[in-house]
Amino acid sequence: MNWLQNIVRPEIWKMAGYSSARMEMTDVSGMIQLDANENPYLPYLTTKSGVGNINRYPHPQPDAVLARLAAIYGVSQKQVLVGRGMDEIMDVLVRVFCIPYKDKIMITPPTYGYYQAIADIAGITVSKVPLSSTDFSLDVAGVIRNTDENTKIIFLCTPNNPTGNVFSLKDIEQIASSLPNVIIAVDEAYIEFADVPSATTIVHKYQNIVVMRTLSKAYAFAGVRVGTLIAIPEIINVARKVLAPYPIPIPVTNLILEALSPFGLELANSRIELLKSERDRVFKHLTSLPGIHVYPSHANFLLFKVSDANAVYKDLLAKGIIIRHRGKDVENTLRFTIGSQEENDLVLRALGVKLDIAKQNERQAILNRKTNETEILAKINLDKQLPVKISTGIGFFDHMLEQLAKHGGFSMELSAKGDTHIDYHHTVEDVAIVIGQALKQALGDKRGINRYGFVLPMDEACAFATLDLSGRGVLIYEAKFKNLLIGDFPVEMVEHFFLSLADQLEAAIHLKVTGDNSHHMVEGLFKAFAKALNQAINRTNNNNVPSTKGTL
Ligand code: PMP
Repeated sequence: MNWLQNIVRPEIWKMAGYSSARMEMTDVSGMIQLDANENPYLPYLTTKSGVGNINRYPHPQPDAVLARLAAIYGVSQKQVLVGRGMDEIMDVLVRVFCIPYKDKIMITPPTYGYYQAIADIAGITVSKVPLSSTDFSLDVAGVIRNTDENTKIIFLCTPNNPTGNVFSLKDIEQIASSLPNVIIAVDEAYIEFADVPSATTIVHKYQNIVVMRTLSKAYAFAGVRVGTLIAIPEIINVARKVLAPYPIPIPVTNLILEALSPFGLELANSRIELLKSERDRVFKHLTSLPGIHVYPSHANFLLFKVSDANAVYKDLLAKGIIIRHRGKDVENTLRFTIGSQEENDLVLRALGVKLDIAKQNERQAILNRKTNETEILAKINLDKQLPVKISTGIGFFDHMLEQLAKHGGFSMELSAKGDTHIDYHHTVEDVAIVIGQALKQALGDKRGINRYGFVLPMDEACAFATLDLSGRGVLIYEAKFKNLLIGDFPVEMVEHFFLSLADQLEAAIHLKVTGDNSHHMVEGLFKAFAKALNQAINRTNNNNVPSTKGTL
């Protein structure tokens, strides 16, 4: 008997596994598909985008999805199994390895509650080796000592929910090597928020380590249900026998491929960084409050202890804020998920933190926009000057946008891929739209800003720009150029750029330029406008909305 046969439930090992129509062939496209009792017609649907041939069964494990997941998790495709959320993956593991009314799983409370539920449903006993009550560290010796011959799986959650701490790979390796016939299932639902290596880096060293990952948290895909098992190929093959025949619906495959495209990953990574910095900011504020203990966290939530968790819970609820009461796990604790900057500020204020908005919040926005013509990702931070990184595929335009950010005094990272092989029109216009929207979003309610800006000077070419962040988009543009092109950049697109920007930023922009050299004139316009914008967005000493209306 080989190692795996010895530890898999005998009936699962013996069964051939259901062989679905789509499992027998990887690619049936282009064939007359009369093998799966499907309907040849598409159903009525109002959503046309990204749906595909949904009258057909999906492939049980879509190749493109496996390839993408394997790439982001740094393993080979044969080591990957994809299911409906990590919850389903855990359930599959229990059904593969545990014999009902005989076997056990081990958990290390306080930890994720669903392990217990799966075991209860399956008729499996749960043995518990608690984490340290002071710092929630793993009791490695206790885990090893308490494992017996019926213990089939040990679930280790790192970063742990609800405590937020991580277990070291060294500890996990020690457990795996001491218990070679027990599956060590490492739940890394929150690992993307931690600055520690994933256990995927050690799966090749220990055949009994399996890692579970999810797109629910860091990739903002909780509503789509995508979880992944990473293990040696032999375990993947057995787990496939237990997983339902067609777990990944066709629309879901399309969504996954879009979210995990290079652009999608760039956006997800920016948001992970934002959430991490918010977590650290919230942590600092909360620890400054008397009567509260906040546990350090490597996840997108914080656990904190107060003297009366019930009272705090009810008080927040009355203020319209739901957080999680974790008193059953750790006395008088509450767990709070890191939300957007605004949401976090509401919680902090509700808990009694005095926030000075002007000092606390960096005004920033991350935006992406995708059409058939362009794909744009923009990150803007009005309260930082660097980095400025622009790449639109149009050299002159990049140069102008760098001027805009540099002289506007704000950080902007913008990448655009457009149909520049046709002409520059769509890319320039859509970049303006995204910048306008990002600036508007970053400005928020415009509290504390200067609102107006103006500038007059330039040398040979004299550019003039005034700007009012008025909430109404208007462009007045006076410019006569001698050339229609600067390099290969059409000068008419300058007006179009500012028109789209004025429209999306909801600003009145007045631009005028005179001169001889078109390059100087356009550059002058971008710089003058940037200076005006810089003055307008800079904060004053007061925190008022600069309008007698009280709103802009
Ligand atoms: N593991 C942990 C530790 C979790 O907190 C959660 C969700 N709350 C999950 C797994 C479930 O992940 P999924 O959404 O992929 O089922």
